Amino acid sequence: MEDCIFCKIVKKEIPADIVYEDDLIIAFEDINPQAKVHTLIIPKEHIPNNLYLEGRHKTLIGHLILKANEIAKMKNIAQTGFRLIVNNGKDAGQEVFHIHWHLLGGEPLGRLVCK
Ligand code: 5GP
Ligand code: ZN
Repeated sequence: MEDCIFCKIVKKEIPADIVYEDDLIIAFEDINPQAKVHTLIIPKEHIPNNLYLEGRHKTLIGHLILKANEIAKMKNIAQTGFRLIVNNGKDAGQEVFHIHWHLLGGEPLGRLVCK
């Protein structure tokens, strides 16, 4: 989608520190990390957020979630623990409307995502 920063990363029109890529998804380092490990995992398809997921996306999302485990292992945070977060809409503070999973870890993260 035009004017979507993450679509531009998918198309390599803007640079990103890519840690994993296949035909369905891409994972790259967050530009403004909120933890020692802060990687974003996105489908290549432009989907604005969770509300826009359809039945046809089941395989894609299952694939992404399973790959998140592999990326956590690659980042050496699988054993110490990590958080996977999707922000949806205004009250969740979603800034980029191309669905993305935040993979956070590498240090204690606090009990829950807080305000
Ligand atoms: P949201 O608030 O939408 O859940 O998260 C958007 C995330 O994307 C933020 O953590 C922000 O730092 C990150 N981000 C925004 N623009 C860019 C960019 O151009 N490159 C990278 N690597 N991350 C970005
Ligand atoms: Zn997009």
